[in-house]
Amino acid sequence: MTELAYLVDLPAAYVREFRARVTALPPGAVVLDRTYFYPTGGGQPADRGELGLPDGPILRVVDVNKSGPSVVHRVQGSPAAVRALGVGAELEGRIDWERRHRHMRLHTAQHLLSARIFSRFALRTRKAELSGHRATLDLDGPLDAGTLPVLSADLEESVAHPREVRVRFVARAEWDRNPMSDRSGLVPLPRQVDPVRVVEIDATDACPCGGTHVRSTGELGAVALHPPVPIAGGASRVSFSLAEAGGPTPSG
Ligand SMILES: [Zn+2]
Repeated sequence: MTELAYLVDLPAAYVREFRARVTALPPGAVVLDRTYFYPTGGGQPADRGELGLPDGPILRVVDVNKSGPSVVHRVQGSPAAVRALGVGAELEGRIDWERRHRHMRLHTAQHLLSARIFSRFALRTRKAELSGHRATLDLDGPLDAGTLPVLSADLEESVAHPREVRVRFVARAEWDRNPMSDRSGLVPLPRQVDPVRVVEIDATDACPCGGTHVRSTGELGAVALHPPVPIAGGASRVSFSLAEAGGPTPSG
């Protein structure tokens, strides 16, 4: 079993270096007792980075996936680096921050955009995918291209006047009474999820999510919306891209 250390609170998403113990060594992979590497899931791609013994050879982490209660870090490196590992060994992990922070910005901007589309046009986001510098949202109805200026202005306003982003674990009964629980109503949470990890954007949104997010909307940087396209069943797909550089990148 791997403790999902990136999940516990919002600052945990900013941890780039950590130590953890090896609990299993499946072929070409490493399982740790805890990890800050984000495994593929919820539309967010896995992290990349490095794992290695302190002062030892480095293994590149090329993919990260959940397997039951464990997180499997797929690694590449020299045969000597792989042989040096043993169950029980303490490793140092380093996360590829450029990639991770981009996913945090994309994911937070996606929550913001989903919330604005819901409050303005009563359209829910059925599915969201992050990839590269782009996020894609599948909505449950048609979105007119004429809405882009107002949505762009919403996003720009949230960057110019930053809002705090928080992670809270709330009892399921409390979450079900939250008026914002309706915005993700098309993807009902499985009954057994209790408590619910809720990602809140101050005075704007609350949404159950297990991903990683920035601590302030001021950190999103410039976002370019692309025209919506119709998809099957009268639905629509809207996507946006991040400018290369984000806002201030905090250290730590
Ligand atoms: Zn999220």
